[in-house]
Amino acid sequence: MIDPFGRRISYLRVSVTDRCDLRCVYCMAEDMTFLPKREVLTLEELDRLCGAFIDLGVEKIRLTGGEPLVRRGVIGLIRNLGGRIGGGGLKELTITTNGTQLPKMADDLYTAGVRRINVSLDTLDPAVFKAVTRWGEIGQTLDGIFAAKAAGLAVKINAVALKGVNEGEYDRMLAWCGEHGFDLTLIETMPLGEITGDRMDQYLPLSVVRDRLRAHWTLQETDYRTGGPARYYTVKETGRRIGFITPMTHNFCESCNRVRLTCTGTLYMCLGQEDAADLRQVLRDPAAGEEGLHEAIRAAMLRKPKGHDFVIDRRQARPAVARHMSVTGG
Ligand code: SAM
Ligand code: SF4
Repeated sequence: MIDPFGRRISYLRVSVTDRCDLRCVYCMAEDMTFLPKREVLTLEELDRLCGAFIDLGVEKIRLTGGEPLVRRGVIGLIRNLGGRIGGGGLKELTITTNGTQLPKMADDLYTAGVRRINVSLDTLDPAVFKAVTRWGEIGQTLDGIFAAKAAGLAVKINAVALKGVNEGEYDRMLAWCGEHGFDLTLIETMPLGEITGDRMDQYLPLSVVRDRLRAHWTLQETDYRTGGPARYYTVKETGRRIGFITPMTHNFCESCNRVRLTCTGTLYMCLGQEDAADLRQVLRDPAAGEEGLHEAIRAAMLRKPKGHDFVIDRRQARPAVARHMSVTGG
């Protein structure tokens, strides 16, 4: 699948649920209203949709959410997709998770064919963790991370950079990741969805963080790319990678290789734009069949925009994009 700007779309991110067992302050309001169940695709429908994308050339799928691992029965979907790795056309199946379910699920993920996961951990401080996630206990997430490691999964830690919250912790987190063999990715906050509080208060440019880290660490440029908004360095002292996801300060759209599917079957061609294609309708239309579904996906690719225009601006009280990250998937 090639879009109008010559980019090959080979990466699909799938939000399998908008629900979550945590309430991170930058992601959700505490009293979030979730989608009615009838609007959410069944796991069989998600499987069929993912299959169609693989048939059309998607080589990498990342399951996300909400919290993907709290959806009941999700391991069945993961096993089915894992079965398509290799000869089935898929090269990689990965998951982004908050880690709470990993103590019981890590082994099953490995058996299903998953080899790498991203786990969100914004802090190593139990009190800060509680304040950021509202409902979380750091011990559960740490147990999950170590269960994943023990199961043989490569772990990348995702941390959102939050001004005045975890700002003083990146040296410690980089050292901790080095000690345990994890890569670390720092993420700038993005203006997605209504939350409580002021985005400007949370926004911390990663250019500042990178300069501060350089006081203690040697960050070596790499040409490692994922086609996404991250720029990676190798940390000489630990041998692990550190990535910086800077949607606000760096334009990454020219190499974008991905599209995002929500759990209602809505396909967003760009994280930062509202335009979307409704694949649920065609999926549930018996007359459309497999060919109709393929046609709808191909047509959507032709609408992939050149880029996004996120702005965090004091004059603009509303988020640039109204939907939450938990709907589109991070
Ligand atoms: N629940 C899983 C988790 O937390 O990893 C998967 C979904 S979560 C929406 C995916 C990623 O998006 C997480 O790393 C989270 O920290 C990040 N995220 C959520 N809201 C964000 C925002 N407004 N700006 C930047 N990153 C955000
Ligand atoms: Fe849940 Fe992930 Fe959003 Fe936190 S970032 S509330 S864990 S979906």
